[in-house]
Amino acid sequence: MAHALNANSGYSRSGSGREAGKDRRVRMASNVIITGGAGYIGAHVCVEALSAGARVLIVDNFANSSPKAIERIREIAGESDKVEMLEADLVDDATADILAERAGRFGADAAVHLAGLKAVGESVAEPARYYETNIRATLTLIKALDAVGARRIVFSSSATVYGEANQSPVNEDGRTAPTNPYGRTKLFIEEILRDLAASAAGWKICNLRYFNPVGAHASGRIGEDPKGVPNNLFPFIAQVAVGRRDSLSVFGDDYPTPDGTGVRDYIHVVDLARGHVAALDYLARDDAAAATDVNLGAGRGYSVLEAVAAFRRASNRAIPVSIAPRRAGDIAEIYADASRATDLLGWRAERTIDDMCADHWRWQCENPMGYAEE
Ligand code: UDP
Repeated sequence: MAHALNANSGYSRSGSGREAGKDRRVRMASNVIITGGAGYIGAHVCVEALSAGARVLIVDNFANSSPKAIERIREIAGESDKVEMLEADLVDDATADILAERAGRFGADAAVHLAGLKAVGESVAEPARYYETNIRATLTLIKALDAVGARRIVFSSSATVYGEANQSPVNEDGRTAPTNPYGRTKLFIEEILRDLAASAAGWKICNLRYFNPVGAHASGRIGEDPKGVPNNLFPFIAQVAVGRRDSLSVFGDDYPTPDGTGVRDYIHVVDLARGHVAALDYLARDDAAAATDVNLGAGRGYSVLEAVAAFRRASNRAIPVSIAPRRAGDIAEIYADASRATDLLGWRAERTIDDMCADHWRWQCENPMGYAEE
């Protein structure tokens, strides 16, 4: 298979990263349940966990993901016997027993919990569905893990929990004040998990607060595949660059930021995925705290216009933009203080905005309709 390579983001670079990953063994959590493992972030977490020597049991109902992702995880990792799959809906009570039975046979010792609904606008329109789905799914997972004595959970939380209550760079002690139901489900689940960790039953929890994950695996085989009109900036830019959409609406150019457009902390999804491996490693340590919150971000912000400029450089395509009104609920600026991730997990983001754009673009070009074609 031919890949468009460049010095910053070629497949070979990722290849050497995978070799390095072999040394970074997941210490004790060698058998990891990954809920939502077929999704955008989940698929990358699977690949990095496999590279680090883990076996994975993916739990997914494919509500917002494709079985094709599983094939491609196996293809990239080349370790198909280490990838198991349970197609199940965690909202369904009956799944607790089914998952416990599978997890027991699998020998699960930890879980990465990514399954859930994630569209901010949809959560405002249908809050009850968001609370029910995200919280119930978590409770089902906890029941199954408890049944098999696997008590380490890495949770897919979000910088959305901070809302606009803090000055950037924001650290984990920042005030939490999410501005929408989706963000509140993340905060409530963090709290459920903290209660679990305080219950003296031996639970170890790491809540990972993601900033803005973008990019794709350097192979171009897995990436983000949003249904319908993308809500997020990068998939929208990528669809404009590839000709699926005419132009990008920039939501507001009158924010108190250097160029007036919103500033976010974009993080390459492969860096993000490796943060999960580092968190699993950390939770396996005897001295790990029972519950920890950790920001995963690059620690610097880019404006919408800077992101568009970077994507133009990577794709060599025109990306027409027009200025539109601010989007309801958006904040001017947020980026991470990511020092806890370095101090505690020994992790830091390595890939640049140019890597993010080049890898996102490769995925978009080679899969213009996401997983739908082929
Ligand atoms: N954004 C934009 N046009 C779009 C989508 C997003 O201008 O079509 C802006 C948005 O206002 C924000 C930034 O891009 O400043 C990142 O938005 P995204 O939805 O990707 O992430 P979030 O708002 O959740 O941080």
